[in-house]
Amino acid sequence: MTRIVQKFGGTSVADIPRIKHVAGLVKREVDAGNEVAVIVSAMAGTTDQLERWAMETAPEHGKKEHDVVLSTGEQITCGLLSIALQAMGVEARSFLGWQIPIITDDNHTKSRILNIETGDLETFLEGGNVAVIPGFQGVAPGQRISTLGRGGSDTSAVALAAALRAERCDIYTDVDGVYTCDPRIVAKARKLDKITYEEMLEFASQGAKVLQTRSVAMAMRNHVRLLVRSTFEDVPGTLVIGEDEIMEQSVVSGIAYNRDEAKITLVQVADRPGVAAAIFGPLADSNISVDMIVQNISEDGKTTDLTFTVPKADLEPALSTLKKKRKDLNCVNILSDAEVVKISIIGVGMRSHAGVAHMMFSTLADKGINIQVISTSEIKVSVLIAEEYTELALRALHTAYGLDAD
Ligand code: ADP
Ligand code: ASP
Ligand code: MG
Repeated sequence: MTRIVQKFGGTSVADIPRIKHVAGLVKREVDAGNEVAVIVSAMAGTTDQLERWAMETAPEHGKKEHDVVLSTGEQITCGLLSIALQAMGVEARSFLGWQIPIITDDNHTKSRILNIETGDLETFLEGGNVAVIPGFQGVAPGQRISTLGRGGSDTSAVALAAALRAERCDIYTDVDGVYTCDPRIVAKARKLDKITYEEMLEFASQGAKVLQTRSVAMAMRNHVRLLVRSTFEDVPGTLVIGEDEIMEQSVVSGIAYNRDEAKITLVQVADRPGVAAAIFGPLADSNISVDMIVQNISEDGKTTDLTFTVPKADLEPALSTLKKKRKDLNCVNILSDAEVVKISIIGVGMRSHAGVAHMMFSTLADKGINIQVISTSEIKVSVLIAEEYTELALRALHTAYGLDAD
């Protein structure tokens, strides 16, 4: 018997007809003789609504109760899908996070899965029954409900597939695979048959929200074969697999964008040892992660401008932290800009090819788009540009790297 995990995202379970449709996709796997565990997301938009309600009740509130509220969306779809399966004659039941249990740490709202105790679940699956499990939730120390960060149902699915030693983890969503760029923006984007874990990890961490970053890292560590596929169309999806399984590599596999960063510039900070530590230390203490960093050349040998990016949601806390330290930093001004977008080109083939970054810079220059910050890794080049050029830049780069569909 083949054991598989199926995960259905928010749009796939957005209403009752869709939940019934999803039940049919689960039944199809059961009828094919597979052992099936299912992870469900909340109905599309529900988690946003729950977040708004929590904020409306009290803008400042504890993360533990925040998690209690946010986790409920998945409980609804988990129960409804179990009902739909039972109505089709499939032996199914719900298992909430604490019932399995899916044990996490106590970093509420962004908890990490530490362990999944699969004993009872495996016995249940081996009996030919379907387990329906809410994604995104677990149980933290003190028996408190935890959640895994937005988009976290992908991570629930991969963690479960690893714990159950499942042969496949199928991620059902509203696109039929991973594309060379977000198909909602670049109409000429092409579906990839296969993509390496490493590229997918960069894709996800640079903003392609088709998979949560943590889920890809976990799949890579545990060799979980991921298949991203459509809930609504029965067409082949995209396999996310190891580099050794992919014969031919293109130099650039795809382009991602992220509108969730904001830029901060410290004007004329002292150019001496210890200053960067004095800036980034307090930000780290406030739990604010810094992404791109550029330090300009010091013209007079005494002062320099330092620019970096933080998540947009952390812009205000970052500015207030820095303003408190302004005297120590001795900077002339602190500037910020939230109207920026980070665009990244990604591909493992970049390791062995020269001129990849140059093509990016010249393509943007041809369109008159100014690059504000650059960062690179072995398999990606990212630039920060004004947000208004997002579409123009993505489409131009997509064409320049030969990624357009015929
Ligand atoms: P789900 O609710 O199923 O988890 P998400 O909304 O989290 O779905 O992820 C799917 C969305 O990811 C797609 O609708 C698409 O707009 C977006 N996306 C961004 N980049 C890509 C990409 N490169 N390939 C496919 N989808 C992408
Ligand atoms: N419902 C959660 C969210 O919207 C988790 C998920 O769908 O993956 O972020
Ligand atoms: Mg998602």
